[in-house]
Amino acid sequence: MKLNLQNPFKSDLKRPILISGPCSAESAEQVMETCVNLAKYNVNMLRAGVWKPRTRPNNFEGHGTPALEWIVNAGKATNLPVTIEVATAKHVMEALEAGIDVLWIGARTTVNPFAVQEIADALKGVDIPVMVKNPINPDLELWLGAFERLNNSGITKLAAIHRGFSSYEKGKYRNEPHWEIPIELKRRFPELRLICDPSHITGDRQYLLEVSQEAMDLNYDGLMIESHRDPSVALSDAKQQLTPDALGEMMKKIVLRKVSTENAQFNNKLEELRSKINKIDDQIVDILSERMKVARDIGTYKKENNITILQPSRWDEIIMKKLEQSKNKGLSEKFITELFQSIHNESIMRQNEIMNG
Ligand code: PEP
Ligand code: MN
Repeated sequence: MKLNLQNPFKSDLKRPILISGPCSAESAEQVMETCVNLAKYNVNMLRAGVWKPRTRPNNFEGHGTPALEWIVNAGKATNLPVTIEVATAKHVMEALEAGIDVLWIGARTTVNPFAVQEIADALKGVDIPVMVKNPINPDLELWLGAFERLNNSGITKLAAIHRGFSSYEKGKYRNEPHWEIPIELKRRFPELRLICDPSHITGDRQYLLEVSQEAMDLNYDGLMIESHRDPSVALSDAKQQLTPDALGEMMKKIVLRKVSTENAQFNNKLEELRSKINKIDDQIVDILSERMKVARDIGTYKKENNITILQPSRWDEIIMKKLEQSKNKGLSEKFITELFQSIHNESIMRQNEIMNG
C-alpha cells in the first residue's frame, strides 16, 4: 500500500528535530522544571508519559488523567508543542480534550493490531500528528500496518520512532537496534519522517551519544531523548535519563553531516569508489550463484545415495575455517558468522527442494 504522508513537524525545523522530556510525568513541578530547562536548549517538542506501559504490575504506572494538565501547562510556559503516549481510545479522547498537540503510539501497542485499530478509529476525522514507535519484535510489516491503519482513518501527519527491538539474549543495549529495519522503512517511504529514540535503545545514558551520532549519520530526521530534572530519583527509566543540562552538552557533541554536496572533486572520487563497489557486488552475486549451483549438485548426489542434507560436523568445519580465515582481515566474527549462516541456510533450502520437491 502507498502511504499518504505529510510532514508532522513544523516545516522550519532543522535536523536534528529534538523531542525531549521525562519518561513519566511525576508531578506538576517535575514536569514544569524539566521542560522549562529543556527549552533553554534546542528542544522542538516536549514529551512525557502519562500512562506508562510497565512490564510488571506494581511498578509506577503513571499518574494518568491529572498529568495531562501538567504537560499542557509546560507546553504553554515554553511555547513548545507537547506529545504523550496513547494506548487506548480513552487515552486518545482525553489527550485531545486536554489539548495535547501530537500523539505517539508506544512499542507495546504497535505490536497489537486490535489496539492500533482502536486508536485509528478514535482518530477518524481528527487532524493531529501521530508518531509510531516500532513494535517490540523486529517485524517491519507490523510497523507498516500501524501506519496503514492510521492512514485509513485519514491521519497523514505521521512519523516513525525507532526505539529498538526486544531480544531474549541481552546485548550491550537494552534493545537491539536492528538498524536494517528502519533503513528498509525509509527506503520504501522516503518521505516518512524518522526519529531515533536512543534512550529506549540503549537503556543507559552513557551510550546515548554514540547511538544518537549513528542515527544522524544514517540521516534520521530527529531524536527523542528522555530527560529528567533529577534522574537519580526518576520513577521510571532512571538509568537512561539525562538532566536538561547534560542533554544540552551532549547535543553539542553530535557531528551533523550533510547528505550530499556540490563539490565536484568529492563527487568524482565518490563515483570512482562506488563503481569499484558495484563491480565487487557483481562478483559477489556471480559467486553466490555458482555456490548455490554446486550446493544443488550436492543435493542431487545426496538424494541418489539417500544421505541427509545436514552434516553437523561439515557445517562446523566450514564456519570454523571461515572464522580462522577472516581473522586479521577486518571482518568481524559476528558478520562472518551471520553471513555464512545465511549462505548455509539458503543451501539447505535448495537441497531440500531437490530432495523433497
Ligand atoms: C517511552 O517512551 O517512555 C516508552 C514507554 O517507550 P517504548 O514504547 O519505546 O517502550
Ligand atoms: Mn521511558
